[in-house]
Order: sequence, then structure tokens, then C-alpha cells
Amino acid sequence: MSAAALPVCLTRPPKLVLHPPPVSKSDIKPVPSFNHCCRKTTKKQVRKGKTPEEVVKKYLQKVKSPPEEDCTICMEPLGGPSGYKGPGVGPVSKAESVGQLAQCGHQYHFQCLVAMYNNGNKDGSLQCPTCKTIYGVKTGNQPAGKMEYHVIPHSLPGHPDCKTIRIIYNIPPGIQGPEHPNPGKPFTARGFPRHCYLPDSEKGRKVLRLLLVAWDRRLIFSVGTSSTTGESDTVIWNEVHHKTEFGSNLTGHGFPDPGHLDNVLEELRVQGITEEDAVVEK
Ligand SMILES: [Zn+2]
Ligand SMILES: [Zn+2]
Repeated sequence: MSAAALPVCLTRPPKLVLHPPPVSKSDIKPVPSFNHCCRKTTKKQVRKGKTPEEVVKKYLQKVKSPPEEDCTICMEPLGGPSGYKGPGVGPVSKAESVGQLAQCGHQYHFQCLVAMYNNGNKDGSLQCPTCKTIYGVKTGNQPAGKMEYHVIPHSLPGHPDCKTIRIIYNIPPGIQGPEHPNPGKPFTARGFPRHCYLPDSEKGRKVLRLLLVAWDRRLIFSVGTSSTTGESDTVIWNEVHHKTEFGSNLTGHGFPDPGHLDNVLEELRVQGITEEDAVVEK
């Protein structure tokens, strides 16, 4: 067989480009219309000490005569007692045994809602298990750390007309608090500082504003088990996707990705963060 008959591969395999070209310090600029370029959360962040019953009551309205329906948490009739038999839920008077969530109107046993709240990360908010309406402000358990953000003079694939917002997250390892899976045990923090990218467009800045709110509410990272390495008690991303691949898209966390900003806005909305939350950048 002659060499000419061999199949020839004309396209080179795509190359992974994780980082932007080098940027000199003088080329790093603040993000237009943002007053700061760094955000810190300290270990002293206090949490409001409300009992689970007090939290749940805040979002409930009284129901005089419960309908002939089952509670969708315990599957027992709303007219009868809660089917929840576990620990951590005190007795309740007949008059208060069923409540209606103020905004969406879904009804549950009071004790079932308290049990559900206790099972979650007790963040002061409550989510209707039926329609997912969030009551109160959802906050997470992101450990103390730092978020920096600025503009670098390079464009992302798919965004040739604008520069790039670079976010640098830094979270050091530490000891887990009461809000974490294993209080008192150390947690690791791999791959920090983590660099992330957004186009410096109007929409990209809007996403950044909401990410700052998410950061303040401790919702960007969490402590848990890494889905990529299986390591437990480590800092992990918390359901708001970030782009960590600057110049290619081989990991699925890169560009171009036309739907990315809308996806992030939707993920933030699920966390209870919308444009109204971002009017003030502190
Ligand atoms: Zn129930
Ligand atoms: Zn509901």
C-alpha cells in the first residue's frame, strides 16, 4: 500500500486552554460600574438563632378546617396527626397542626414542615416541597474566604466584542462548623485559588452582581463530597456553574457556550437570588 492511500488526519485535536494569556498588573482594571474588587467573609459571621418552630411559623398562615387531602410530606390525611415519628419535633396543639404557606397556599402538617426544615441545612429559609417557592432568604454554609473580581484585556471565545471579567475565589482549609456535615472535623480545599470567567458585557456584569449576592449569602461553595474525586469533607461548588476554562471548551466548563449566562441566572434564581437583590453593590 502506498503512503498516499493512508487516511490523513487534517484536523488537529483541540487544545485545552485553561488560562488567559499573561496579563500585566497595569492591564488589570476594575469592572466598570463596580466600586470594589474584592469581597471577604470572615469566620465571625453570625447566624440568627431562631428555633426551627419559629422559622416555620414565620411563613405559615392558620388553617381552620383542613381539606380532605393528604399531606404530601408524610402522606397522611391533613385532618389527622402528622405521620412524622422522628426526633426533634415537639408536640403541637390541634389548632396549629396544619398550616398553609403564606405565598403559594400549599398546606402541610406543621410538624412535617419542622421535620423537613430540620433535615435541611437550617438556613433560615423554607422551600415549599410542592412548588419550590422559597420563603425567606436562603443562605448556605460556604466557609470563610475571599472573592476578587476585575477585568482583563482578553476576549473569551464567543464574546469577541468584549473583555473578560475574571473572578478569583480563595478559600483556605479549616475546621467544619455546626452548619457542616461533620462539625469539628477538618475540611480540605483543593484547587484554590480558583479562576473563573465571564464576558464583560452588560449581562456578564449582571451575573457578577448576583454572584456577589450569592457570595454574601454563602451560596457559591459548600462543604461536602466532591463528585469528581469522591473526596469527602472538602470544599465543593454549590449548584451555580462557573466557567473555569478560559480559551476552549473541553471540560464542559469553558467557552463558547451561548446559553451560559442565562443558565447561571436561572441557577441563581433557584437559590432565591434575582435582579432585585442586586440593586446595591456594597
Ligand atoms: Zn404531614
Ligand atoms: Zn407551594
